[in-house]
Order: sequence, then C-alpha cells, then structure tokens
Amino acid sequence: MRYNTPMAKPRSAARPSSKPKPAARPPRARRASKPVAPDAGAPPEEPFWRRKAMRDMTPAEWESLCDGCGRCCLNKLQEEGSDRTFYTAVACRLLDWETCRCTDYANRAAKVKDCVTLTPRNINRISWLPPTCGYKLIAAGRDLYWWHPLVSGDPDTVHQAGVSVQGRVAASETSVPDERLEEFLVKWPQRWPKGAKG
Ligand code: SF4
Ligand code: SF4
Repeated sequence: MRYNTPMAKPRSAARPSSKPKPAARPPRARRASKPVAPDAGAPPEEPFWRRKAMRDMTPAEWESLCDGCGRCCLNKLQEEGSDRTFYTAVACRLLDWETCRCTDYANRAAKVKDCVTLTPRNINRISWLPPTCGYKLIAAGRDLYWWHPLVSGDPDTVHQAGVSVQGRVAASETSVPDERLEEFLVKWPQRWPKGAKG
C-alpha cells in the first residue's frame, strides 16, 4: 500500500453561512387585562441541535457542536487512488495534547495551511471525520451522546468517555517526517470507544 503525504488536518472551525438575525424591537409594555397563569405543563424547548437545521445555527451554536475530542487534528494518510483515509497518532503542531484543543484557534488557517474549516456546506462531503464527531452525528440526523459537553455541561466528559485524544498522542508532526508517518498508523480514531454509545 502506498500513501500520499498527510491529509488535511480538519477542525471545527465554524464559519456558518447564516448569520444571527438582529434582535427584533421589544414589544411595548401593555397592561394585561387579566393575569395570565403560567403554563406549568408546557414541555421544555428542544435543544437547538435537535430543532435547527445546521445552516440556521448561529456561529456560537455551530462552534459548540465540536466536542473537543481533537481526533480530527491528528495527521492522516490517504491511500493512493482511493479516498480511504488512515489516521496516525501524530498530532498537528498546534494541538494541546492535554486539553485536546487548538492552541491558536483564531489564527489556525494562517499557521496550518491544510487545516480545514467545517461549514454546513462542506460537512457532508468530508468522509474522514471520526464517527463520534458532533458535526458528523448531527449532519446524519442523529443526536449527541451523554459525554458531549452540550449534553453533560462538562468539557471533561469527552475525555472521561475515552472519546478524545487525551493520553493517546504519540508525537507531534514537528518531530515526525512525512516518510515516517506510516509507523504511527492507529485505528481507534475511526472507532467508538466502549461505553460511548451507552
Ligand atoms: S468534534 Fe472532534 S472530530 Fe469533530 S470537529 Fe470537533 S474536534 Fe474535530
Ligand atoms: S491548526 Fe488547530 S484546529 Fe487545525 S488541525 Fe491544527 S490543532 Fe487542529
């Protein structure tokens, strides 16, 4: 099997096409003719990722779909003549191995030229995102799992569930030449950890 040079190192960089609409002018105060009882039986509103199309999400909502796993920031190899992608345990030079976050997210495109910005337009064309990726799940009409920070309210649950790259990065790309990347091939970034679906 032969491999190309490392593939793009995608990340959650969100630049949705839709922008939040400006707030409407608030209604003027009116005296209510009768007191209205609160509707105690009204069901709570569904979270945004269940009720909104991706293209309608605000930039902040779009960004928050990223679970912070860091899997997409690992170097990848593409099989020549096919679109099969293989992950390595070699991390992008800007990835923090402990937090699994980009250390210069605002300037990543300028610093890492093959860092891919995910958008509602390209999300369905990117085949190499890991199966656990929040964008991939929502684009496929699925829900987020218990460990996603939007569900748990805790950014550490992605690590506790074994979904993130924490403790699994073998090297930085700064210390591994392209021709040695094959030595670092790993399968786990394209798999579900045990218990992550439960
Ligand atoms: S959820 Fe994980 S794989 Fe998806 S964009 Fe965020 S860091 Fe990358
Ligand atoms: S530049 Fe940042 S977001 Fe892009 S692949 Fe590297 S660590 Fe990930």
